[in-house]
Amino acid sequence: MPFADLGLSDELLRAVAEAGYSEPTPIQAAAIPPVLMMRDIIGIAQTGTGKTASFVLPMIDILAHGRTRARMPRSLILEPTRELAAQVAENFEKYGRQHKLSMALLIGGVSMGDQVKALEKGVDVLIATPGRLMDLFGRGNVLLTGCSMLVIDEADRMLDMGFIPDIEEICSKLPKQRQTLLFSATMPPPIKKLADKFLDNPKQIEV
Ligand code: AMP
Repeated sequence: MPFADLGLSDELLRAVAEAGYSEPTPIQAAAIPPVLMMRDIIGIAQTGTGKTASFVLPMIDILAHGRTRARMPRSLILEPTRELAAQVAENFEKYGRQHKLSMALLIGGVSMGDQVKALEKGVDVLIATPGRLMDLFGRGNVLLTGCSMLVIDEADRMLDMGFIPDIEEICSKLPKQRQTLLFSATMPPPIKKLADKFLDNPKQIEV
């Protein structure tokens, strides 16, 4: 299936061509159309499959076409490690250059000052590790009530790192009416349970 058949905007098709991608990977071909149709999905896919673009590309289109005036974050991407979060932020910049969407990278190991400043200015997207997000939330620096799109990436690694209670707490602070995408290389029972609790009739995609 060509990229042009997935339902992405012309701007994103150009960004994809500029990135040098000729064809969508299997996870992109299977995930992008239902994500654009606002379905919840469970994507069973490893790193290296093109998984990141399968949620970043449709997220950019959803954000760019449903702009609200209040610059409350509208999307939250949770990653288990700082490195993965930084990589997703790079992807976001690469594909979304023309869209003028702003983001905050909320990760540990760096001072909170710049993150708080970015949050005060207002951002569209939060890309975060659970610990730092919880810290900032606890200090009253983050509002999550506008986040109607959530990505839980690398869920099995989140489990290994003991982040499931944090994720449950974060989910409870997001609006109930939202779109949730969960990606995991494997689906152990605690992840299945998490998906049952926080996703609504998800389409399961396995590549
Ligand atoms: P990921 O699985 O998201 O970490 O992506 C793995 C690598 O594949 C990244 O370096 C991407 O830039 C690259 N990539 C993503 N989508 C495509 C595509 N459709 N064609 C070729 N490379 C891609």
